[in-house]
Amino acid sequence: MFADYHVHTEFSDDSVYPMESVVQDAIQMGMDEICFTDHVDYGVKDDWNSGVEIRWRGNEPFANVDYPAYMEEIRRMQEKYSVLGHLALIRRYDNAGIYPFECIKPLVTEILQTVIRDGKGIEVNTSSRRYGLTELMPSEEILRLYLELGGTILTIGSDSHKPEQLGAYIMDTRKRLKELGFQSFCTYERMKPAFHDL
Ligand SMILES: [Zn+2]
Repeated sequence: MFADYHVHTEFSDDSVYPMESVVQDAIQMGMDEICFTDHVDYGVKDDWNSGVEIRWRGNEPFANVDYPAYMEEIRRMQEKYSVLGHLALIRRYDNAGIYPFECIKPLVTEILQTVIRDGKGIEVNTSSRRYGLTELMPSEEILRLYLELGGTILTIGSDSHKPEQLGAYIMDTRKRLKELGFQSFCTYERMKPAFHDL
């Protein structure tokens, strides 16, 4: 199974990549599945059933997030999402030294426990690799914590906005996740996770 579960098209403000070209390119690369995650502002379309990247207003920069409000948003979204992406936002500020992992660990633990309890998953976003970072997104600390807490549902996506980004670093990332101790990654079938060996 070769799948890219985070793909943007011209329907996102920051991409001009036509959806049909994305599909043709993916087929050319031998991909089995892609998940479109075009941006939508939360609350505009809540009946959208495909993969949609929901942005919480006010969560960038993460430093401005009021933690209880963030948790409340996640709880509120519970019925509407399958996989939580962009946990990486936390890491960005972690790198700047503002949020060392030990400081954010209680919040992250609570988020991950909520995700696991609700039968949802998290996304591993490979775009960090194209910025030259060797770290995964979310960080290995977060991924290890997820594993420790019993998390098994992971999707992997490139966050591609351009042809050269489609499918990038997915196979590498699978290898790394396996080294961390994960057994499988997921695709989705009618909103239910399907597990595939890493
Ligand atoms: Zn994205």
